[in-house]
Amino acid sequence: MPERPEDICPRPETLPPQATAPLIAPIYLSSVYRCRDPRQAGAMLGGQTSGYVYRRDGHPNADLLARKCRQLHGAEQAVITASGMGALGLAILSQLRCGDHIVLSSLLYGRSMILLTEESARLGISHTIVDTCDLSATRAAIRGNTRLVVVETITNPCLRVSDLGSLAEITRDSDAALLVDNSFASPIVCRPIDFGADLVTESLTKFINGHSDLVLGLLCGSTKVWERVPTTLSSWGIGSSPMDCYLASRGLSTLALRVKTASGNAMLVAEWLRGQKEIAQVHYPGLSDHPDHQLARRQFGDLFGAVVTFTLRGGQKAAEAFIGAAENIPFCPSLGEASTTLSHPASTSHRGLSEDHRRELQIDGGTIRLSVGIESADWITASLSQGLSL
Ligand SMILES: *Cc1c(COP(=O)(O)O)cnc(C)c1O
Repeated sequence: MPERPEDICPRPETLPPQATAPLIAPIYLSSVYRCRDPRQAGAMLGGQTSGYVYRRDGHPNADLLARKCRQLHGAEQAVITASGMGALGLAILSQLRCGDHIVLSSLLYGRSMILLTEESARLGISHTIVDTCDLSATRAAIRGNTRLVVVETITNPCLRVSDLGSLAEITRDSDAALLVDNSFASPIVCRPIDFGADLVTESLTKFINGHSDLVLGLLCGSTKVWERVPTTLSSWGIGSSPMDCYLASRGLSTLALRVKTASGNAMLVAEWLRGQKEIAQVHYPGLSDHPDHQLARRQFGDLFGAVVTFTLRGGQKAAEAFIGAAENIPFCPSLGEASTTLSHPASTSHRGLSEDHRRELQIDGGTIRLSVGIESADWITASLSQGLSL
């Protein structure tokens, strides 16, 4: 029988034989995989043998990216999630159950705070918010049913540094695991697992991808807390897209170069900002007057990250003038891009807080958060000078 177009067109291809392997991994968009026979399908779905069956459970581009992230963090296990928030959600859903309690740093990223308070409370998970820079207060907040202590390596926007080694020691004496959101540091500046963290999340959207063209997250950690992670990831559908994983792998190939260059620039920019009379305060853990400078030195070595926050003397008006005049530096409320960008916490990340609460966090209308990029330090300071109309 001659083949008809309607029989040819929809038929899946068989791959051509290849004598060579591509240098760069292909993008595996397939939502499903062909199984050889029912025995093989059953063994893979049952987890007795490895292999791909259905994309929500796992796919090669996620595994390739996860493997590099796992190596960078020195972790036993790692998975890629649909976003940084997805990674935190996966940690909650895989580690906790109704009746459990969590201890949270008072300085967590705004959306994390909502997830870990409002959203988690709806699942019957209670919380205590503490200043996790105060180690005895943190120890006192841990109860018999505390299962997780959540902190960030470097906080937004005033860049307080968590003492990960001491926090790990505190949680080790309890039934709680230590979860560290490392998004502001990246594994180039800090590997929380080296200090005893059990779980690490990262927004790959930020430094690891570094090119502002995707949203993805990472959860990594130790085998002893990993049992439910694969099932939870697939059941709640928080997995990643192959295209995004491919792009993030490409971004990650220059991660070390970018973070080292940007952190070096950030140090120079912080020192330069400190010399400007229009600026009341500069927050950067690399500066010796930062409250956590000594801790940062011990924990990070000589890279202090690429985020620098400063407060203009003239308040909101001065910030508006600065943002208008600094034409080279886009105002966009994210961080970790290749280019230098700025954000204004009072109108973006911290707009939901009362003015008193913002003052407590050392944020006012004149506070600007810079994410320093990989341009030359001279170009960045010239662009900042433009903002200050120097
Ligand atoms: C951006 C960010 C997140 C959330 O990551 P998404 O990829 O945007 O979901 C979580 N924590 C911190 C510290 C972040 O900066």
